Amino acid sequence: MMKHNPLCNFAGLPRFSEFQVGDVKPAISSLLDQAEKIVGQVSLQQESTWDNTVEPLMRSMDQLRRAWGQVGHLNSVISSEPLRSVYNELLPKVTEFYSRLSQNKKIYQCFKDVSAAQKPLLSQERKKYLDNELRDYRLSGVDLGEREQNRYQDLSKRLASLSALFSDNVLDATDDYVLNVEERSRLEGLPAAVLFEAKAKASSLDQEGWSFTLKAPCWIPFMESCRDRSLREEMYHAYVTRASEYGNQTFDNSTTIVDILSARHEKAKLLGFDSYAHLSFATKMAAEPQRALDLMAELSDRARHRAVSELQMLSDYASSHLGMQDLMPWDISFVAQKIKEERYSFKDEDLRQYFPLRKVVEGLFDLLEDLYGISVVDEKTKAWDPNVKLFAVSDRAGSLLGYFYMDLFARDGKRPGAWMDDAIGRWKTEQHTQLPVAYLVCNFPSPSAEASDAYLSHGEVETLFHECGHVMHHLMTQIDEVGISGINGVEWDAVELPSQFMENFCWDWGIIKKISSDVSGQGHMPESLFKKMVEAKNFMSGIQTLRQVEFSVFDLRIHLGEPPKNPEEVMGLLDDIRKDLSVIPVPPYNRFPNSFSHIFAGGYAAGYYSYKWAEVLSADAFGMSQEESMSLSDIGTRFLGEVISQGGLRSSLENFIQFRGREPTIDALLQHTGLIEAVRSPA
Ligand SMILES: [Zn+2]
Repeated sequence: MMKHNPLCNFAGLPRFSEFQVGDVKPAISSLLDQAEKIVGQVSLQQESTWDNTVEPLMRSMDQLRRAWGQVGHLNSVISSEPLRSVYNELLPKVTEFYSRLSQNKKIYQCFKDVSAAQKPLLSQERKKYLDNELRDYRLSGVDLGEREQNRYQDLSKRLASLSALFSDNVLDATDDYVLNVEERSRLEGLPAAVLFEAKAKASSLDQEGWSFTLKAPCWIPFMESCRDRSLREEMYHAYVTRASEYGNQTFDNSTTIVDILSARHEKAKLLGFDSYAHLSFATKMAAEPQRALDLMAELSDRARHRAVSELQMLSDYASSHLGMQDLMPWDISFVAQKIKEERYSFKDEDLRQYFPLRKVVEGLFDLLEDLYGISVVDEKTKAWDPNVKLFAVSDRAGSLLGYFYMDLFARDGKRPGAWMDDAIGRWKTEQHTQLPVAYLVCNFPSPSAEASDAYLSHGEVETLFHECGHVMHHLMTQIDEVGISGINGVEWDAVELPSQFMENFCWDWGIIKKISSDVSGQGHMPESLFKKMVEAKNFMSGIQTLRQVEFSVFDLRIHLGEPPKNPEEVMGLLDDIRKDLSVIPVPPYNRFPNSFSHIFAGGYAAGYYSYKWAEVLSADAFGMSQEESMSLSDIGTRFLGEVISQGGLRSSLENFIQFRGREPTIDALLQHTGLIEAVRSPA
């Protein structure tokens, strides 16, 4: 094999400083060939065993995954024309290889044979890995007869193109609409930056005046600050009818939804599930759709009272301060914003001066040391950009656990957003130990030319803590089998537990004192300001919770039972749910599902609840430290032992119960979002 090619050198850390675009194609082609060869050899085995089948397959897959992962990673963080073009050229080949493997009946049979012959003799970790593999093969349709398998693959292809169509329609419908206003007097209240953009948009369209779009940077401030009520109504109407029969017919998603739901249902039925929701829950911590529905019912019961008071508060304020009667849906953000400005008198941007990056990172590493007894040391190694750092993580006894790269600043050629990715998974055999390596990527503003340090908004501090939680999950694993070590094999709706757990510390005064400074760069931020931040965070949490619950319940129920036969049935279900859940009346033309890309174009089908699910888990886990007045080290040791070191070995519910001593409850989240306190009426 091509040892001289840095992408094919699997000893130790990735060779980023030696990387050249010219290496990509020969490396990936040779690894794909090698993988094909092993698949062929393994399926000819007389008798399949772990050593002659599973192990060589895993080794080859791990190498392909690591090399291709590095290419994908570099394409995300230092994209260039040549790199993107070779990535796009190889992507279909790699995807095709994996898809063919998932349909390979011979390999599936080999795994079944190993399981039948050797399972009682294997370690817990190997058993679990085999079970996962067999489950995933079954879920990809390999077990079906030839006719059904063909049908299954047709449905998968059909769903891929329907989802793409759904997403294109939403984008096109969003782009298609412009609100043009010529009278400056109607635009009172709008921020200068929004007006500036709208002016530029109008001139690009050869229009007089200002043109407003439905894209988030325009739509959100427009609804929060435009004083002209009828303009807000017009924008609201355009927004909630996107990709529906009320807008440009070319982009109408009404029947796309029905087609998607029907194909999903048929797919689930082929695999022997009652509904698509049941199929989705086969790989989830919640395990049963009913469990997620129960959680949502409990949350809505507890949030309703607060949501009703919040609505009352909005409508009182609207009539007493703004002379507005009958609060309408297009008034909610506007009135809420007015109250927020009056009460909290600070903007998120104002907080940036209190969080110098160096102090935040130092405080974060100290916290990790207190929690998990680890030390984090800068390796001062070159990576893909001069600003990227590589850190080594060791335990109390000084044993090396793994590494992570930290790439924090935005730059050209870097994909926006923040994420953690797995570069290498922990894998320990008698012959060798492969230590885990992670990428932590953010897009923070880099330090200005005069400043010696960068400054983070509080939201960015939370992002850094969040991603660092994922890094810990990946690096602190004690599982030896790579397929279930770190974040591998963890249920889809449980992966956000370790990351959201870390976010809680950003709302803890003890930690804030350590990671902030005052405006002169000394001490810490004022406690009175911190208290205002907490209040502002929880402002409108009742209405927001009900909104998330409504989306989650719609997503679950539309995927349970028989699929709707026409668009009217889709809207009928949503209307029923709204009657139960929503405190804000919704006009009959509202077509929210038509742009609900998370579930019709993204990966959240019968899974939208997982946002709330993860919040419940993380708040409940964090709440333990306060309830039982545990030290950071006590809570950290326990969380490490029962949750984050366990990888995908046990179910996440089992992990949680072992950690908390009981099943998760929603009380900690209610407290954390202020839903248990009474609503303060506005001054
Ligand atoms: Zn996350």
